[in-house]
Amino acid sequence: MSYRAPVEDMIATMRHVAGLDGLIGDGLAPELDGGMSEAILDEAAKFAAERLAPLNAVGDKHGSTLKDGVVTTPPGWKEAYRAWAEAGWNSLQAPETYGGQGLPVLLQSACTEMWNSAAFAFALGPLLTVGAIEALYAHGSEELKETYLAKLVSGEWMGTMNLTEPQAGSDLNALRSRAERAGDGTYRITGQKIFITYGEQDMTENIVHLVLARLPDAPPGTRGISLFLVPKYLVNNDGTLGAHNDLRCSGIEHKLGIHASPTCSMAYGDKDGAIGWLIGEENRGLACMFTMMNNARLNVAIQGVAIAERAYQHALAFARERRQGTALDAPKGAPMSPIIVHPDVRRMLMDMRAKTQSARAISYLLAEALDRSHRETDAGRRKAAAERAAILTPIAKAYATDIGIEVASTGIQVHGGMGYVEETGAAQYLRDARIAAIYEGTNGIQAIDLVLRKLPLSGGEAVKALIAEMRGVAAEVAAANTPGFGHTAARLAAAIDALERATQWLLATMGAKQADALAGATPYLKLFALAQGGTGLAKKALAMRSEENGAAALATARFYAEHAVPEAQALELAVTEGAGAVEDAAAVFAA
Ligand SMILES: Cc1cc2nc3c(=O)[nH]c(=O)nc-3n(C[C@H](O)[C@H](O)[C@H](O)COP(=O)(O)OP(=O)(O)OC[C@H]3O[C@@H](n4cnc5c(N)ncnc54)[C@H](O)[C@@H]3O)c2cc1C
Repeated sequence: MSYRAPVEDMIATMRHVAGLDGLIGDGLAPELDGGMSEAILDEAAKFAAERLAPLNAVGDKHGSTLKDGVVTTPPGWKEAYRAWAEAGWNSLQAPETYGGQGLPVLLQSACTEMWNSAAFAFALGPLLTVGAIEALYAHGSEELKETYLAKLVSGEWMGTMNLTEPQAGSDLNALRSRAERAGDGTYRITGQKIFITYGEQDMTENIVHLVLARLPDAPPGTRGISLFLVPKYLVNNDGTLGAHNDLRCSGIEHKLGIHASPTCSMAYGDKDGAIGWLIGEENRGLACMFTMMNNARLNVAIQGVAIAERAYQHALAFARERRQGTALDAPKGAPMSPIIVHPDVRRMLMDMRAKTQSARAISYLLAEALDRSHRETDAGRRKAAAERAAILTPIAKAYATDIGIEVASTGIQVHGGMGYVEETGAAQYLRDARIAAIYEGTNGIQAIDLVLRKLPLSGGEAVKALIAEMRGVAAEVAAANTPGFGHTAARLAAAIDALERATQWLLATMGAKQADALAGATPYLKLFALAQGGTGLAKKALAMRSEENGAAALATARFYAEHAVPEAQALELAVTEGAGAVEDAAAVFAA
């Protein structure tokens, strides 16, 4: 099944939800003035459809393999990667000083969505390189930047992220990998890492690993973790590649999905220790890694949007072809109708469409906030944007990746039995989508982050500002008095009320009884996302009333408001009155 990038909705979401025009108007994205976004997205759409989308099923079937320490990616993978990097797609957001194009995160996000819709397992590698570039650029020494950044930006080398160890997943306090000072400014790294995405591959001649490890005299816990750059091949002074570093891939995982993405166990320092260079300061590595992880969390959110979009397109095409039953209004004896005429199939397709677009709305809002947090010249505005991005990061990551799974599952349902067998490809989306809710901080950890660290920002004022904006949109919908909106204004207002009450309850409870606040963290995150996504779609529909696609935008916003948003009331009750039941679980699991 072919993929066609939804460029129109991407542009509409960038403009009407995420405020692209405002970004340009404020002089913060002059590169995108004069229709540049459309031109870049059209080109990206072609590459995604023509070069990457055909790889998706091939990658799933062949997977990556490991033999004698060498990982082989599926047929066509290497060639597509080289063509992709040579076309400049790896460098969109990267700093211009190192050969990048310095374009806004918002534009990069739309392109990232296309690569991931086309071939999720392919796009995952470059996604980590983007994060590595950002961490190195923000925290690396001039010498490290000079040696590594241009090659990472051009895509000649790829970057990886090495946090996880068998005993240290969500809890990095337990990290054991060690780093010894070598006395010459370098370090010797030893330890085992697991689940390292693209830890070994045959697509680039060098791989730049960013590795978390502890110095011998480091304080315990996360305050004693440092970040190191550990290249697969050491780099000579003239930039050529030297000896193989003391590291190897000791195994790759057999997984539910993303078969083509090699998930590697990495052994550092079998001999004398892998040679590594410190990034940032000793014992401050986690802060540096967070630069990379925050970027990666937006991109993983985008993966959720991407897989949902692909599953939706696939299901829609199937529903137009597959014939079963007859339309309710068909004359007696009429031939079987395409299943898209049946109300329940239409409901499923609208559900897929609206949820995908709501997740896109939230993710692009986050991308715009990140752009403002980097580009605003006024310190106060930069801080406000950074806090907005901080709040939206866990919401986008968890909500969009959950939507990826949900929409891919509904896609299988639309296909009936043909969805459950592999040949249609619908099942691959669900298998691939599942990981995004787990890596880059599980969705449960995102919810905790939202409640404990993000709600209290600026004494709760940052969240209040977002809620006030949502109220403004709900009021505009009510004032528009457009019959096509149906009950949208009322549903949005009720969800925003529920969000406000749940927020106040959490802010009041987290200090007194943290366990109660954490028991409701996941339902709270979803409640937030429903209000944010619902107002996002409504804002887009309001702006598009006079455009050609206005009716579809209106119908989508209305569907989301009337079918998804009402869950907000139930979620509020789970947050504010559900902690006792979670506490009682202690008795259930006592044995
Ligand atoms: C395919 C794949 C690719 C990956 N790629 C990378 C990579 O490139 N680099 C890398 O470093 N890692 C990578 N990972 C690892 C991934 O980030 C971890 O699996 C993830 O962070 C969760 O850690 P864990 O598996 O140890 O689960 P655990 O931390 O053991 O969590 C198990 C469950 O307990 C919950 N939980 C844990 N602690 C708490 C808590 N305090 N409160 C509430 N709930 C909690 C979690 O939410 C989860 O539901 C990858 C994993 C996979 C499967």
